[in-house]
Amino acid sequence: MTDQARPATPPDPLAWVEPLPDGEVERALVVAAHPDDADFGSAGTLAGWVDAGIAVTLLLCTRGEQGGFDDTPRAEMPLIREREQQAASAALGVTDVRFLDGHSDGWLEPTWELQHQIVRVLRQVRPQRVLCQSPQRILQRLQASHPDHLAAGEATVRAVYPASENRFAWPELIDEGLEPWKVTELWLMAHPDSPHVVDITDRFDRKVAALRAHASQTAHLGDGLEAMLRGWNEGNAARAGLEPGRLAETFAVSRIN
Ligand SMILES: [Zn+2]
Repeated sequence: MTDQARPATPPDPLAWVEPLPDGEVERALVVAAHPDDADFGSAGTLAGWVDAGIAVTLLLCTRGEQGGFDDTPRAEMPLIREREQQAASAALGVTDVRFLDGHSDGWLEPTWELQHQIVRVLRQVRPQRVLCQSPQRILQRLQASHPDHLAAGEATVRAVYPASENRFAWPELIDEGLEPWKVTELWLMAHPDSPHVVDITDRFDRKVAALRAHASQTAHLGDGLEAMLRGWNEGNAARAGLEPGRLAETFAVSRIN
């Protein structure tokens, strides 16, 4: 057999893939457990998606009422954190920010009810791209893998596949006029293996602004907030082999064929 006739090596079905070019994505849905999660993990990336013309919707599963470091009455926290998230997202150009009802911070589980709510939003928004938290824990960095994050990630992955695209899953959603929707690709934050690297150096100032807007969670850090974020994002860039001084967020990307 000549070299020309030899069949090409088939692609490895277990290899991570590169995402679609941003220009081929019209809508993205980001799902997270708490206000500030998506900003810590992906603010620079989301700002880039907005700049590329992608309509980004952010969906929070709770209002983060267990967060914070002062004596603010707990009953006031949901509204405070809702407003902080609106301001943080505005710094990135994201204006469609939604909150699910019925779930308490610290008690999130990937229940059928949570999956049902996420499927409803998937079918309303009809995103080609979904970004959520990893359902798998990073044992070396447990704070990135808060149990609520794992639950939000698990519920979202299950909602993306198979429920969103299966018309026999929750047929009452069809009665609401919400036809099945097939998501094209799934991005995971804080996954143990995150080979896709997004250089956010030029958008780092917007990431810092977004996280400053979460004042109930970050004001106590003062100037240390920017240094902390810079350290994390420099570390990501260095591990990915980017030039010194570059800043990066990293993800695992799965294509749903
Ligand atoms: Zn969180």
